[in-house]
Amino acid sequence: MTETKINTSRTENAKKILHEVYDPEIPVLSVLDLGVIRSIREVGEILEVDITPTYSACPAMKVIEMSVQAALDQAGLGPVKINTVLDPVWTTDWMSAEGKVKLLEYGIAPPQLSARIKNLSLGNTTISCPQCASTNTVCISEFGSTACKALYKCKDCLEPFDYFKCH
Ligand SMILES: [Zn+2]
Repeated sequence: MTETKINTSRTENAKKILHEVYDPEIPVLSVLDLGVIRSIREVGEILEVDITPTYSACPAMKVIEMSVQAALDQAGLGPVKINTVLDPVWTTDWMSAEGKVKLLEYGIAPPQLSARIKNLSLGNTTISCPQCASTNTVCISEFGSTACKALYKCKDCLEPFDYFKCH
C-alpha cells in the first residue's frame, strides 16, 4: 500500500526547480509555462510528476521528461518517477499567460484563441505579427520549424515568423 503525504516544501521546491527547466524547442519557456506538468506529489518516498506531452509524437517530450528527472534528482528531490498522462490531452489553454508573453517576446506568435473557441470558429483566426503587431499576415506553411508551429509571413514588415498552433 502506498501512502500519499503532503510535504509542501518538497513539492514547492520541485516547482521552483521546474521553473528553470526549459522546453528544448522554445528555450524561453519553462515546462511550467508550457503547462505540461500536470501534477507533482509525494507517494511514499517517491516524488511523482505527471507530464502531459504537447504532442504525443513531439520528439522534444522525451528530452523534457529526462530534463525534469535530471533537474529534480540533482536538486536532491529524488527518487523521482515520471508518469506520462495522455488523457486529457494537452491544450494550448494550459500555457501560462506569462508563457504566452515570453513566446511573443521570443518572436513566436502565441496561440491566440482557446482551443475550444477555435473548434467553434472553424479556424478562421487572424494571427498578429510578433514583430510589428500587424494582422496583415499569411500562413506560408502549416508546419514551421516543428510540427507544433505553423510558418507565417507578415505582409507589412515582410518578416516570416512561427505561430504556435492552438490545439
Ligand atoms: Zn510584421
